[in-house]
Amino acid sequence: MATGKAAAGGSVRGRFDAFRLAARGEALGGEVDMTGRARVRDRLAQTAGAAIVSWRIQGGHDALGRAALTLTVQGNLPLECQRCLQAFDTAIEQQSELLLARDEAELAKLDAEEGEVLLASTPLDAMTLVEDELLLSLPFAPMHAEAQCPAPAQAGEPGGEPERNTPSPFARLAALKKRSGGTSKE
Ligand SMILES: [Zn+2]
Repeated sequence: MATGKAAAGGSVRGRFDAFRLAARGEALGGEVDMTGRARVRDRLAQTAGAAIVSWRIQGGHDALGRAALTLTVQGNLPLECQRCLQAFDTAIEQQSELLLARDEAELAKLDAEEGEVLLASTPLDAMTLVEDELLLSLPFAPMHAEAQCPAPAQAGEPGGEPERNTPSPFARLAALKKRSGGTSKE
């Protein structure tokens, strides 16, 4: 533990001051292979290839002038079809505006009024934000479109009915786990 300080340049690698980014209207971005990020990798099909996602974090303000980040992630990720168990690429494109809170009190206040709020009292880890955003945008029960799926449709499944309307038990379990795992957020 000889190195207690970040390298010259001031900021810890991968972390950034969200309020400063917002105040300056600056952006961060890059590409990352999500097979190196355990939480997302667990949701991907096991393929040999990489799962490259491009990301961008734009600092700025919302319509009311409050500090905010706009987070964009996009890429093609290999998911495992829950019907035929084969891997297929799914295009992900997700953009979210995250309001910044300076402390817990502000977080609680904004959280009650707004959709997505981020506690930014300490430097944030860009990759964690990207990871969280991807986890939110991945389908719980990914499936091929019916016409492209080699497995026959289940008996009684009406044609043209989107699979999203019938989440698998696994999806429900995951949702429950997610809910009980964190603080209760509406
Ligand atoms: Zn399939």
